[in-house]
Order: sequence, then structure tokens, then C-alpha cells
Amino acid sequence: KKEKKISDQEKVQKKPSEPAIFIPVDRSPEVQEARLKLPVLAEEQVIMEAVRENPSIVICGETGSGKTTQVPQFLYEAGYASGGRMIGITEPRRVAAVSMSHRVAKEMNLPTQVVSYQIRYEGNVTSDTKIKFMTDGVLLKEIQKDFLLQKYSAIIIDEAHERSVYTDILIGLLSRIVPLRNKKGMPMKLLIMSATLRVEDFTENQRLFRTPPPVIKVDARQFPVTIHFNKRTPLEDYTGEAFHKTCKIHRMLPPGGILVFLTGQAEVHSLCRRLRKFCIQLKMRKPNRRRLLEAGIGDEEDGDSDLDLGDDPADAEEKADASIPLYVLPLYSLLAPEQQAKVFRPPPPGTRLCVIATNVAETSLTIPGIKYVVDCGRVKKRFYDKVTGVSSFKVTWTSQASANQRAGRAGRTEPGHCYRLYSSAVFGDFALFSEAEITRRPVEDLVLQMKDLNIEKVVNFPFPTPPSTEVLVAAEQLLVSLGALEEPPCTGRLKDMQRAKLSCPITPLGRAMASFPVAPRYAKMLALGKQQDCLPYVIAVVAAMTVREIFEDLDRPARSEDESSKLNQRRARLTQMRRLWAGQGASLLLGDLMIMLGAVGACEFAGCTPRFCENSGLRYKAMVEIRKLRGQLTNAVNAVCPEVGVFVDPKMTPPTEHQVVCLRQIVLAGLGDHLARRAQGEDLVDPKWKNAYKTPLMDEPVFIHPNSALFKTLPEFVVYQEVMETSKMYMRGVSAVEAEWVPQFLPQYCHFGSPLESPSPWFCSSTGTIRCHRSSTFFRVGWQLPAVEM
Ligand code: ADP
Ligand code: MG
Repeated sequence: KKEKKISDQEKVQKKPSEPAIFIPVDRSPEVQEARLKLPVLAEEQVIMEAVRENPSIVICGETGSGKTTQVPQFLYEAGYASGGRMIGITEPRRVAAVSMSHRVAKEMNLPTQVVSYQIRYEGNVTSDTKIKFMTDGVLLKEIQKDFLLQKYSAIIIDEAHERSVYTDILIGLLSRIVPLRNKKGMPMKLLIMSATLRVEDFTENQRLFRTPPPVIKVDARQFPVTIHFNKRTPLEDYTGEAFHKTCKIHRMLPPGGILVFLTGQAEVHSLCRRLRKFCIQLKMRKPNRRRLLEAGIGDEEDGDSDLDLGDDPADAEEKADASIPLYVLPLYSLLAPEQQAKVFRPPPPGTRLCVIATNVAETSLTIPGIKYVVDCGRVKKRFYDKVTGVSSFKVTWTSQASANQRAGRAGRTEPGHCYRLYSSAVFGDFALFSEAEITRRPVEDLVLQMKDLNIEKVVNFPFPTPPSTEVLVAAEQLLVSLGALEEPPCTGRLKDMQRAKLSCPITPLGRAMASFPVAPRYAKMLALGKQQDCLPYVIAVVAAMTVREIFEDLDRPARSEDESSKLNQRRARLTQMRRLWAGQGASLLLGDLMIMLGAVGACEFAGCTPRFCENSGLRYKAMVEIRKLRGQLTNAVNAVCPEVGVFVDPKMTPPTEHQVVCLRQIVLAGLGDHLARRAQGEDLVDPKWKNAYKTPLMDEPVFIHPNSALFKTLPEFVVYQEVMETSKMYMRGVSAVEAEWVPQFLPQYCHFGSPLESPSPWFCSSTGTIRCHRSSTFFRVGWQLPAVEM
């Protein structure tokens, strides 16, 4: 049943020093019973035998088969958490790390001091912790502190099929760490867990594992799921289609939870609202209902789709009146945790559960009691342009593997049905599997982390799926220009240069930057922040730039007619407030970053309450994260330069004019490769360049967003956090910079001319050198910049 190749060497490793221990766990009868139903339990012996006999193993099993909750318990019972070492489990998503640790603690009847979690900002790990759930990023940081991970006896990499960047890197690193630990006589086990069978990238990869690790398949006792494809070509309005399908299921099919997959938060909310309305409508008396139907609210499509519900409409209407209420819940990653937890609880008696979810429900979380799945077949993904760095979110077709995962959610407790809102022909055209994340995003943060781990030749790293050389070179170049890596020698042939570009050693500044838990551009700002007592402000700005979506989206469409005017008023008020935060004169030039600083300051001043955030158009969860991150960054900066000794008072006084100038310069130094200049001269002949900006890497115009602090100012030079492509190419996080700062703070991006005649060169007695002015231009694009003293 299980394929195993055990080399002689590995047989020797099976030492008597691993006694068969059994640590008893005191589970409640209900937990015992529920556990026995999980398919993974049938494989416990096979799994534990494989663990004992091999340094690394792979476990594949359908979502819901019990991998995440049970495998750590197997290891615990077999004594892997005794002897002072822990069992570590990594999750790509924070939600999963937190909720799984709680679940396992509960199942094992152990306190959270023993079964704990650690995510970026928080955790409940103690010295008594034996099982530790964490995000993959947290474990990567721990490897930086202790390459051998001596605190752990076993590491479980969960959700490996998601191919998140950190998971990939961890598998690469652990493929080296595990043999090292064995060599040093402190054996460690690696368990890779995947919800799909596609694990060749790990097992067949010679660079990762010399002997392929055994793969243990958990046969999920999955009930059959009947797939219903749409006959018609897929509709653009899949949210509307999802609405109709869900209503039909609810009205015509026997009890059982409904899970709908959509692509994003806005869609999830819009469908939740429509369904709730539909439910109220069902409760109304018939005449009223008919009027509503005539008005087109919640109207039903005529039944030409292939939904196998086929009874006659009159009959359906009868049933509809007798229908039970639909208990509609949203589920997406930015949802507040207490809202998220609702989906695990049984719905109120006499209602039908209906969860409207994004991809989070695909594999990380198993919602109990789902019998019907409605799948829009799409997924929202962040795309990233390798050359220009422009990001955009696009809704695309998902992969066949993902669609099958989604369908599988319906057959957990009894036979189920999956309604795909697309035809089988379209399904046939889907990619078989989703791509690994590492091929879809910039990698400068990973490269810096690896250099800090003294992996100098990142190209040689055993990536399960290697990023392209082009992307790696771009990352090294950015890190060189930030001063984190040493400049490669520019001698030799082109090929040697290429190679040199890929093995630049880390600088002391680079090491300091790597110790800050933020992307390299922001880490650079932190490293420069100590000037002029600016550090608390730099920390606040960096924290705000790092946390996702701190502001309420002012452009979101109104939910209904009567909401429209209220929303307009709210927009006007929030715009006014943001203008206030941006300030005037000197501070306004810090632009969107000043708004962020103002928001953080105002929020802290008000005690960071949910109410203040709601009133001010700030996302409460984001503001809490910013507060935690500020604390964490302060500690990190203090650890690197204790002499500075920053103390972050959560309440900040606004920066002085002088400090604002300093902040703008620091921001320029960090975002130097994101400099843009207002279009001028002959460009303006073409109307598409009106009010537009040029950047060194893009041919197309980019714009300042109407919601930006600098929309009306239009400074000549700006730096931006990122360019997002929506209706236009918009810069986000824009800040104005002065032309003369560019050659001063970004000499690495400038060309300097020969000495100018006037003013004539002079002797500087303090440095003992001849000084002069030189003209300067910005690299590649040749923008003229002011002359600088050199
Ligand atoms: P896998 O990792 O293989 O996808 P899990 O170990 O996550 O499987 O889930 C096993 C079972 O435990 C599922 O039936 C799931 O519904 C249940 N479960 C997981 N978390 C919770 C929770 N917080 N509350 C109740 N049941 C849960
Ligand atoms: Mg799992």
C-alpha cells in the first residue's frame, strides 16, 4: 500500500534510542468518538512507523481527513514532545494557526500554555509549550536565530500544496537541517502534509531529498459528490448566478449546509446581503412576495440550467413558503476573528447554514455540515509584473485541482452536490494545478533573508520550484542599491558578471535590515530612522505601509439606493478628515504617508477603540496590528542599535517641519527605485500624459489617485509605495521629494558629469580634498537633476 524505499544507511538510523513511548492524552468521550471517524486515524500506525524509519515523510489526504488536528497528537503520544523538545506545525495562514491550536488544545484537554500558537504579532507560547502552531514566516525567523532548530523534535509543514513562498523556502531549508541534526546526533523529523496528491515537486526533486521521502496516502472516507456543470457558457455576473443557485438549493433541496465560493470580500458581502433579503422575503405573505418578485428583487431565473432539482415551479413555491430561514455567514481572511469563528458553531436551531466564502474555505478551514457547494470557478490573484513591479488583482479561472477541492467540501458528512457555475468545457480548459506563489511575486525579501542565513549563492538554493534567474537578479540589484549587499565586481566576461550579480555578500547594514520583520525597502528606512529623533515616526509610517488596507475604501459602491446618499455624506466627511491628517504646507508634502501618520496618531490619541475607527473610516483590525507592529519594530530597532534607545509612546505628537523634511528624505532613500517625475515637454502633446507621471521602467503613464493627499499638488518628483493597476495605473502611498535630494540620497541611481566650471573647484581643508559641483542625471531615463557638490 505504501511505497517505501529504505536505504541501508537509513535502516542504521533506526536506533534503539527511539523507544516506543506512549504519552496518554485525556480526551473527552465526544472528542474520542469524533476522532475515530477521521480517516487519518486509520493510518496512525503506518504514519508513525514511517516517521520512526525515515527522517522525512509526506502525508497526502483530503481536506477534512484530520491531518492538521491529529498528526500533531500522534507525535505527542509517541513522545516527540517529551525530553524538552517541541512539535512545531507551520500554516501559511494566520487564521489556521490560531484556530487549529485552539482546536487541538481542546481535543487534547490541555491548556493553551501547552498547545500554543505564534503568529507575527501575537502568541501564547510559554516554557511549557509542547505543540506549537505558527505561520511559516515565524519558523523562518526562528531558523535565522537557530539554524538547527534545537527546540524542536519534529516539524510539520502543513498545507504544502498551497505552495506559499515561505512554505517552499522552509522545505528547502529543512531538507538541509534534518540531515544536519541527524549527523549531530539530535534527530529531527520532517513531515510535509498536502491536501493534494501532487507532491512530486518535493519528492522527485533530487536537489531537495537524495532519497525520496515515502508518501503516505490517507484515503479520505469522502462521500460521493455529484458534480453539476452549467450547460450555458459561463456568465460574467457569477455573483448573480450564485444567488439564483443558492436560492434554488435552499427552496428545493433537503436540509444541509450550503457553501458558496466567490473571489473577494466585496462579492461575499454583496451576496450575503442579497440572500438575507431573500430570506426576509420568504417570510412575507404571498401577495407581498409576489409584489417583490415583480419588482425584480430576488427574482428567480427561469429554470433552463442543468440544476437537477427538477420539480415543477408551483410545487417549489409551496415549499418556499414552508422554508426554514437561511443563516447566512461571510468568511474571508480579513474578517474579524470572532466573526470567523461563527462558521464552526452549529447554526441556530431550525435554520440552514449558508457560508459565503473566498478561497480560505478551500483547504485551510473545514466547515462542518456542508452538503451543497456552489463554485464560481474563479479566484482573485495578485499579479506582479517582473519588469515594472506593477501589481494588480485579477479575477481568473481557478485550477482543476482547486475546483475539485472546493467540490470535496460537500461530501464531508454525507453524499453531497457541487454546482459549478461554468460548463464542463470550460473546466476542461482550466490549468491542472495552481502555480507556486514564488513564481508570481518579487523575491527581494527572501533573498535578503537567505543572505542573512549565509546562503550566498541563492541560485543554488534547493527551491521546490525555483524563481526565474531574471527575478533573482532583479532582487539582488535592488538589495545592492539599498546597501544591503555588496556591489559585485564589474570585471570579467558577461557570464561571470551575471554569476557575480547572483552571489553578492551581505553587508552589516543588510544584516540589520534582515532583522527587521518588514520588506527591505522599509527596513532601509528603519535603519536610517535615527536621525533627528525621527525613529518613532519612521516606525509608525513603516508599520502603516506594511499592514494591509488600513483605510476604508471610499470608492466602494453603495449597497442600496437609500444607502447611496448616506455613503456620499460619509465619503465627504472622511475625505475631509484625511485632508486634516495630511496637514498643510511642509507636512502635506509627505503626502499619503502623512495621512497614515496622522491616522495612527489620531487613533492612538483616541485610545484605538473600534468606535473611533468606525467613525474615522479606519479598519480596526488593521489599527490594532499597526500598534503591535510598532511595538515589535521598536524592539527590533533597539536590539540592533541599543544606543539609540527608542521608546515608542503609542501617542505621538505630530512631527516638526524639520522632522517632516527628514522623513521625506528617509522615504526617498528607501523607495529610490520608485521615483516618478511629472510628465512634461513634448510628452504633453499626447493627452494621455495629462497630469501623468513617468517612471524609469514603464512606458505607460502612471497617476496620482484622486484620493491621494497630493492629487491637487502634483509635485514634480514623487516616490510611491507601489503601482496598482485598476481603472488606470495608480501610484499608492505617494510622497513628494525635492529634485536636489535625488543625487544626494540616491547617488547609486545617478550619472555625474565632469566638474562644472562655475562655481570653480575649491580645496576643502576639513576633508583635504578638492571639491566641485557636478551635473547629474537620473539613470536610464536621463532626467536632468540639479548639480551637486562632490
Ligand atoms: P485536515 O487538516 O486534513 O484538512 P482537520 O484536522 O483540519 O483536517 O479537520 C478534521 C476535523 O476536525 C474536520 O471534520 C473539522 O470539521 C474538525 N474541526 C477542525 N477545526 C474545528 C473547530 N474549530 N471546531 C470544530 N470542528 C473542527
Ligand atoms: Mg489541514
